[in-house]
Amino acid sequence: MKLVRYGREGREKPGLIDAEGRLRDLSGAIASIDPQALSPKGLAALRKTDAQSLPLVRGKPRLGVPVTGISKLVAVGLNYRDHAQESGMAIPAEPILFMKATTCISGPFDPIVLPKDSVKTDWEVELGIVIGSLARYVPVEKALDFVAGYCVVNDVSEREYQLERGGGQWDKGKGCDTFGPIGPWLVTRDEVRDPQDLRLWLEVNGSRMQHGNTRTMIFGCAELVSYISRFMTLLPGDVIATGTPPGVGLGMKPPRYLKAGDTVRLGIDGMGTQEQKVSAWPG
Ligand code: ZN
Repeated sequence: MKLVRYGREGREKPGLIDAEGRLRDLSGAIASIDPQALSPKGLAALRKTDAQSLPLVRGKPRLGVPVTGISKLVAVGLNYRDHAQESGMAIPAEPILFMKATTCISGPFDPIVLPKDSVKTDWEVELGIVIGSLARYVPVEKALDFVAGYCVVNDVSEREYQLERGGGQWDKGKGCDTFGPIGPWLVTRDEVRDPQDLRLWLEVNGSRMQHGNTRTMIFGCAELVSYISRFMTLLPGDVIATGTPPGVGLGMKPPRYLKAGDTVRLGIDGMGTQEQKVSAWPG
């Protein structure tokens, strides 16, 4: 299933995208796409719903973050060999973790607002893992059983805050408002044949900046869920941003960063496309 939340910010309704790509209203079946709905029981109940019987949604409503009630947005740094190289950093021996403040989370088509004094705001297309069951000390072989589905995440990053003012850790440059577009769809795990064989891409103003494939991840999805669950308990609805392939602005010569008026488009095979307009901080 491709699950979505649509409507005005804060007033989103649950929906799904049917086999023909049409948006259908799920609000007769469930109250929301929330942690409960993402549990194995919740998803099994939803699967019994006949998509064709759900009302079609007219027009083109805004699509919001496809899941509500995200307690944590955990991210993985330098998880693609070639991206570690372009960043001039060593290939990590074990996953690098950092947190993105949940207040950074925004819809897939909502604007990216540059922080007040930002000059180095950058883009990162990433595969997001959405947790479906509480995960704590989960073995690698079972780790994907704890996954509800996958989605696109833009791990928007302010490089000055992250690397020059971070004091050795990255959170300052990762959690600014609007730095976490998620969606448009949450694609349930059963529809993703192999999470380690998905193409990712990102464009700025129509020029291709990033393209990669999840097969070049250093630590795969199962390893990441297992590894992270040794350091914190993952709850249903939590999202893991699994790292970005090469082509970020920081890696260009000279580096290139986002400015007001730019348009960022990004997507992953089978997960839909995001688009964000970049704007200056108001006032
Ligand atoms: Zn990232």
